[in-house]
Amino acid sequence: MTDPASPGTAPLIRLRGVTKTYPGASEAFTALDALTLDIHAGEFLAVVGESGSGKSTLLSLIAGIDRPTAGELHVGGIALHALPEARMAPWRGTAVGIVFQFFQLIPTLSAVENVMLPMDFCDRWPAGERHDRARALLERVGVADQADKLPSRLSGGQQQRVAIARALANDPPLLLADEPTGNLDSRTSEAMLELFGGIVRTGRTLVLVTHAPSALRQASRAITLADGRLVSDGGDAAAAAGSVR
Ligand code: ADP
Ligand code: MG
Repeated sequence: MTDPASPGTAPLIRLRGVTKTYPGASEAFTALDALTLDIHAGEFLAVVGESGSGKSTLLSLIAGIDRPTAGELHVGGIALHALPEARMAPWRGTAVGIVFQFFQLIPTLSAVENVMLPMDFCDRWPAGERHDRARALLERVGVADQADKLPSRLSGGQQQRVAIARALANDPPLLLADEPTGNLDSRTSEAMLELFGGIVRTGRTLVLVTHAPSALRQASRAITLADGRLVSDGGDAAAAAGSVR
């Protein structure tokens, strides 16, 4: 097991003075304000904070979907703040898996085809193996029996399971999830969090934006953002859970 706190280990994710501003009509808006943060391999990090505090912005920077306006951001040793645009998408394809609140499955593709899609983009597995691999991933998240259905025929919980399988398609070491249980009932949320917990125990790193107290109990660490700044970095996520509604 990786010790998340072990000194001397280079962090998997390293932010130094990371700022993100969005251009506005009159003045620029600062969504992340000089954020400095280390996240180590094997951590299950919960990110909390009120709406508009910068949580999704943080995830999109770590995912290489967007770039910092200032500061340095390294993920897995790659300097994302300086990575040429043409290398960004290929990097993202195998380095991170992303899970969204509203699943964002392709509506015209079956569950198994949705899971195969990232593999088709990355060529990490031979074309002939992708279907079997996608089925195995669906099996792992408990929806193998739904493999040939379109997303519209699945419940919210089933769709999120497919989305998690898709995020694992290229076997990324890092998973990012933005309020993945925000649109699910509490029982389904619990099942989803158990799934995430199991994924972390296989050695992956998880950064989870959440409001769910049970997610905070599972996380190894919780940080709180307010107005784009880090306002708490508790080693003990369980204690933070007590302060969340
Ligand atoms: P959270 O996920 O914590 O709710 P976000 O990271 O989505 O917060 O947004 C932080 C702030 O940045 C919000 O005030 C939001 O309105 C603003 N923001 C986010 N994306 C954009 C954008 N593309 N253009 C302008 N402002 C944005
Ligand atoms: Mg958000």
